[in-house]
Parts: sequence; structure tokens; C-alpha cells
Amino acid sequence: MFEWLSSVRPHTARPSDEFLLEQYASLRRQIPLMYALMFINVVFLGIATFRDVPWGMSFGIPAALSAVIIVRALLWFRRRSIVATPRDVQLYLRGTIVTAALLSMVFGGWGSLLFSEAEHIRSVSISLYVFVGAISCCFCLQALPMAGYLVLLFGVMPVTIRLLVSSDWSLFSVGANFLIVALLILRTLSTSHSGFKQVLQSRATMLAEQERARAAEQKAQVLAYRDPLTGLANRRALTERLDTFVRRDPPAQIYLFMLDLDMFKGVNDAHGHGAGDRLLQAVASRLKTIVEGVGHAYRLGGDEFAVTLELAMGQHAAAVATADRLVQEIAAPFRIDGFLHHISASIGISRFPADASGREALMQHADIAMYNAKSLGRSRHSSFEPSMGAELAERAVLEREIRADFRTGAFHPHYQPIVNLSSGCIAGFEMLARWARADGVTIGPNQFIPIIEECGLIGELMLSLLEQVCIDAASWPNELTIAVNVSPIQFRDPWLSEKILAVLTRQGFSSRRISLEITENALISDPVAAQRIIESLKNQGMSLALDDFGTGYSSIQHLRMLPFDKLKVDRSFVRNVDTDDAAYRMVTAMIRLADSLQLSVVAEGVESRSVCDTLQRLGCQEVQGYLFGEPMSAADVSGILRDSPQGIRQREAAPWR
Ligand code: C2E
Ligand code: CA
Ligand code: CA
Repeated sequence: MFEWLSSVRPHTARPSDEFLLEQYASLRRQIPLMYALMFINVVFLGIATFRDVPWGMSFGIPAALSAVIIVRALLWFRRRSIVATPRDVQLYLRGTIVTAALLSMVFGGWGSLLFSEAEHIRSVSISLYVFVGAISCCFCLQALPMAGYLVLLFGVMPVTIRLLVSSDWSLFSVGANFLIVALLILRTLSTSHSGFKQVLQSRATMLAEQERARAAEQKAQVLAYRDPLTGLANRRALTERLDTFVRRDPPAQIYLFMLDLDMFKGVNDAHGHGAGDRLLQAVASRLKTIVEGVGHAYRLGGDEFAVTLELAMGQHAAAVATADRLVQEIAAPFRIDGFLHHISASIGISRFPADASGREALMQHADIAMYNAKSLGRSRHSSFEPSMGAELAERAVLEREIRADFRTGAFHPHYQPIVNLSSGCIAGFEMLARWARADGVTIGPNQFIPIIEECGLIGELMLSLLEQVCIDAASWPNELTIAVNVSPIQFRDPWLSEKILAVLTRQGFSSRRISLEITENALISDPVAAQRIIESLKNQGMSLALDDFGTGYSSIQHLRMLPFDKLKVDRSFVRNVDTDDAAYRMVTAMIRLADSLQLSVVAEGVESRSVCDTLQRLGCQEVQGYLFGEPMSAADVSGILRDSPQGIRQREAAPWR
């Protein structure tokens, strides 16, 4: 029976749980009312036919029907207080359909019996009772049309058929009316049910739409406060958190760290944005691990990060320890796509309320302290002090001016002669960058080169200066070499040697005339990469000089490992080699070391005859310094070479000084 019912269910697809529950809710309201109507109807019909028909028919059947009706009504009444599951509901509905069929069979059959027993006039009122009773039930069963159809079939049809087949015209017309009304009810049942379904459907769609909108809003909220690349909180989250912090009463102590990655741009340029992104993600995850539990980490954009720590007064040491750890952890190499990247972080620290009274000042002061950390040599932290402000404002102005002048030709090469001591002739020149500023103020490379490095523009500057060197030196004697300084940062570019060669090839300039000056710092951060680039440069025919020897973290190992041709003794040792015993011993040792490694030695910063004589006695091959000439323009170099084609012997003989 249940299978049959399932197969004749009005909806072909399995009704949704929500639909079932709605059907049930509607029936729970209507069915007790339906049973009440039926009960009244049965009682009245019993009373109306009392005495006219056998006792069993006017009392027995209605009594039995009423008992069933009462039981069913009580059952539905009880269900009002039960929370039904969709499965329960399915069972209830099937039960209702079966009961509707059985009760209407009994009711319709009883009506039909009464009809045949009663006299003509009574049979019309009996059929009306039956008809009205069954129709009222159909209305109450609108939410369950199958039950309604069965009530029409079994409850209404028996009397209607009797009316239609009777030979009396008036009874036939009543039957015909019943039939028409029954058909109308049938149609109403089916349309009201599909309306019911539609309402539910649109309500479900609306709810789903609302849910989607709510989820989208939540997502937008998350996005507004998260950095999509690293998943860290963003600048907006930081400003809002700081705002809540600074408004607290009594005020809490907050440490704000502004963190800027050093040399990140080099990685990005050399290895592409994909590698850069992965590096930023790796940095973010180290940051998160370190500050977890003690504070929060943020990415403010680019390679800028921030950390907030909420610490009780007197916990300064804990803040410093965290900053130390951050510096250390970020200086440890990152392995991305098989490459080891060495970067570092400069951290500025500012405290609320000690260093700033509000959020903006707190952020600004942490920024200032961060620039201070960078200017002190990077990979360190620095706590804000009021005196820092002016210095850093100056640096910011300088950076803006450098960027504005960068591709305008304002950066150009000057050349300082390097003299061979045994021949007394110019062996070549060192190219040194100069900045021609519109305001005429001289700003030397010691100031602008670190900023250009920081801006990630040093590679571009070197190549454009090299291009100019090729043009300038094209007309100078072929045996003159030009020394070009290579910044340690450029060794992060795996294509460095190819880029240099491309310039030389384009200009038709022999690579044998180029000597590259490298400081020891270039060899420290990533010796393997540096070695590869250096070997490739050597293979192109360029010579290599180790610059500023003695000032960096020298390692004899570097000298032995790498194919250097020259060693440049730093001017801090050369300056007083003639008067200071310690300097003398140092320079002697350096020259001996170079000798044993078969490298030639260039002494820089030679300003006096006496220094020059001492160096000559020690066996130094080449010298460079104001004694022989300051860095000068290409036109001045051409002038000297024209006037004194044999080169110069000594400062006194140098007509351009
Ligand atoms: P450096 O490579 O050690 O260059 C030598 C510096 O010593 C130059 O300073 C030069 O003018 C100066 N100098 C030369 N002779 C004497 C002397 O007799 N006495 C004294 N006191 N100084 C002398 P400059 O031109 O200011 O350059 C400073 C540094 O800037 C350079 O040091 C080099 O590290 C860097 N630099 C300059 N141009 C470039 C460049 O094109 N690329 C890169 N990466 N660095 C550059
Ligand atoms: Ca140099
Ligand atoms: Ca030098």
C-alpha cells in the first residue's frame, strides 16, 4: 500500500525536507478543524436520518465514524507539541492519505446507503450533508492534494453517481451540480497546491539569496582586513587595532614594530614576481610563528610588515628580545624554488604612550626608527628617539630627488687615474658615479649609492654608466683599463654577467678593458651565487679586483677560491702607511699575501709623495689617489691623454692638477 502511495504522490521528485515540513505545518493547523467539521456533519446526518433508517445506520455507523474521527483528531492534536523530523512527517502524511481514503469510503458509502433508504425529499438533504462534509474536508486538505482527491472520489462520488442515475430530473440536476463543483474543487486543489509549492520555492530561493549575500558580506569583511597574499592582517586592521589600543583607559603599553625587508627588490627583479611573492609568504609565516601568542603580525604592502605587542610596563626587555629574534630569523636564508635567498629586516620600534600620544605619531615614529635602522647598516632594530626625525626627513627628500633625476642623465661617470708605479704611466681609470644636481649641491656616491641600492635601482644605474664608459673610453688608448664598481646587491641578479656583456657587445667595447671592483660583502651573503657570476664574468675576459680590502669580513678563503686579479688596499690603511707603524705592518702583510696568491696590488687614497714612496718600497704595483688626480670628467681625461700621451709620472708632473 505504501509503495503504491509513493508511486502516486503528486510530485514526481522527492519532496525536499523543507517542503515536507511546510506541508505538515499547514496540515497540523487544518486537520483538527476538518475533523471537527466532519464530526458535526456525521452527528447531524445521524440525527437527521434517525427513525427513517435502521438504527444501525443512523446510530451505529455515525458512532463508529465519530470514534475514529475523535481518535484521529486527538492524534493530530498531540502532534502539535511534537517536533517531527522529515521522516516522521513522511509517515504522518502517508497515514493521513490512507485514513482519508478509508474514512471517506465509509462516509461516502454510508451516505449512499442513507440515500437509498430515505424518501425522495430526504435524499436531497442527505446528499447535501455528504457533499458539504466531503468538500469541507477537501478544503482542509489543500496542503495534501492526494488526500483531497481520494475524499472527492470516495466521499463525494457515491452519492453523486446515485443522483445522476436516478430517474428524477431534480435529483439528476443536483447530481450534475455536484459533479461540476467536484471538478472545480479538483482543479482548485491542484492549482492551490502548485501555488503552495511556488511560494515555498521562492521563499527557499530568497533564503538562499539572503544566505549568499550574508556570506559575501562576511567575505568582503575578511578581505577588507586581510592581506590576500600572505593572509596576515593588513594596514587597515593595524590602524583600527591601534585606535582601540590608544583609546583604552587606563592606557596599555603597546610596542609597534615597523619592519622593512632589505634587498627584497633585488630578489623580485632577479627571480621574478612569483618568487618574490613566495618569499613574502615565507617571511609572513616566520613572522607569525615568532609573534604568535605575544602579539600580532601585519603586512602593510610591498615588503613592509608590522608587529604589535601589548606588554605591561617594565617589559621592555621582552620587546627587545622579540625584535632580536625577528632580525635573526629573517636573516636566515629562505629556500624558494631551489634558490637560497638571503634577505634581512630593518625594524623600527616605537612605544605608546612613551614615544607617541596617538596612533599616527606612533606609526610615524616607528617608521623613522626603521629608516634609522636601515641607515645604520640594515638587518637590525632601532628604537625611536626624538632626534631621529630630522635626519630621516632629509633622507626621504634625497630619495625623492634621486628618483626624479634617475633617468634624466643626471648620474654620469667620472674617472680617476690609476697609475703603474714601475712605469709611472696611467694604467687605467676607476669610474666613479657623480650626480649633477640642478641646485649645484654636491652629494657624493657614499650618500646616494646606498639609497639607489635600497630603491633597487643599482643594477640599472651600473649598466647605464657602463654604456657611457664604453662611449667615453672608445677614443682612449686600448691598453687603458676602466675599473667599474659592482654593488654587492647586484650579485643577487643571476643574469648580471649576461647583462654586462650585452652592454659591451652593443657598444663594441672589449671586455678585456673592463676591470670589475667587488667588495668582500658581495661574497658573504651568497658565496655560491657570487662565485658562479664571477667565473662567468672572468670567462668573458673581464678582470676582477677585490675592493676595500681589509675593511670587510675578509676571508683568505675568498681570495683563494675566486679568480681575482687585483687586490685594492683600502685607503684607511694607505693614508698613514708612512708614519703609522701598525698601518705599515698591515699594508706589508697585505702586499705579501697578494704576492703569494699572485695578485697585483692597487693602493687607494695616495695623497702624498711620502706614502707613494713607501708603497713603492713595499712592492705595490699600482696606486690611485689625489696625488695623481681626483676623479674627473671624460672630457678632462681626453684632455690629459691628448696633452700627455705617454701618461704621467708623478703629481708634480700632472699638468691638470
Ligand atoms: P671606492 O670604490 O673605494 O672609490 C674610491 C673613493 O675614494 C672615491 O670616492 C674616490 O673619490 C675616493 N678617493 C680617491 N682618491 C682619494 C684620495 O687620495 N683621498 C681620499 N680621501 N679619497 C680618495 P667617491 O667617488 O666618493 O666614491 C665613494 C664610494 O662610492 C666608492 O668607493 C664606491 O664604493 C662607491 N661608488 C662610487 N661610484 C660607484 C658606482 O658607480 N657603483 C657603485 N656600486 N659604487 C660606486
Ligand atoms: Ca672601487
Ligand atoms: Ca675602494
